[in-house]
Amino acid sequence: MTLFNLAGKTAFVTGASGGLGQAMAIGLAEAGANVIAVSSSESVQTVESIRALGGKAELIAADLSNEDILEDVVNRAVGIYGGIDILVNNAGIIRRTPAVDHSREDWHDVIDLNLNSAFFLCQLIGRHMIERGSGKIVNIASMLTYQGGINVPGYTASKHAIAGVTKALANEWAGKGIQVNAIAPGYMTTNNTAPILKDEKRTQSITERIPAGRWGSPEDLKGPVVFLSSGASDYMNGHVLCVDGGWMAR
Ligand code: NAD
Repeated sequence: MTLFNLAGKTAFVTGASGGLGQAMAIGLAEAGANVIAVSSSESVQTVESIRALGGKAELIAADLSNEDILEDVVNRAVGIYGGIDILVNNAGIIRRTPAVDHSREDWHDVIDLNLNSAFFLCQLIGRHMIERGSGKIVNIASMLTYQGGINVPGYTASKHAIAGVTKALANEWAGKGIQVNAIAPGYMTTNNTAPILKDEKRTQSITERIPAGRWGSPEDLKGPVVFLSSGASDYMNGHVLCVDGGWMAR
């Protein structure tokens, strides 16, 4: 299992206070990584769970949609364990309103966090990785990287763009020892999808379309994120890995 071993590595995981980010942070810690859990929430649940497992974790509470603070957040994070080996750009929000009613505020809020903060964190941490000659970046995409969705135009734009950024950076940085890839989760049970889960009919029709016959759980991303953060994926660049119970295969 040495290929997947992350002992001595430090992972910077955004949106790590709950949902997919929390499970991925814990999965990376289980594989041996120190974790810097970055989130708008002050919740210490993720770092406490990691410490309870015998791992090392620190919390940085920050609103990542504010571009002006990102450099400071990264500098603070680098100072904690002396470097960053893995960046997981997971923090994301969704606003559900039809395109004709989609407000400028909703559009900008989604793009600011899901796309702009993800790109600027790639840039800031990428510079640091280039200096060190190695690094792993995992961006979190979506089924709406491929499909249009309904009533979520800003979110769809951000998730299509995340795949483009992943490929663009992979091309520039593959030769510098940095692998930039993405995970596209299918329908997973988190706060993000809670409004859909309240609608029994819609939930049932989605479940029927998933070949695996169930929604994903946050824990379903542990293996894929460890894989893309470890030496096991050293020859993967610019790939978007669907973890979707077969949704895209259908
Ligand atoms: P979630 O709402 O449970 O978690 C979102 C996380 O982002 C939380 O930790 C929250 O504190 C953090 N966050 C929100 N705004 C922030 C800000 N301004 N600054 C810093 N952190 C902020 O949602 P989730 O389902 O776990 O979503 C995680 C990622 O996965 C998102 O990028 C989402 O688009 C993506 N995704 C989710 C699904 C799904 O089915 N749940 C499917 C595909 C993709």
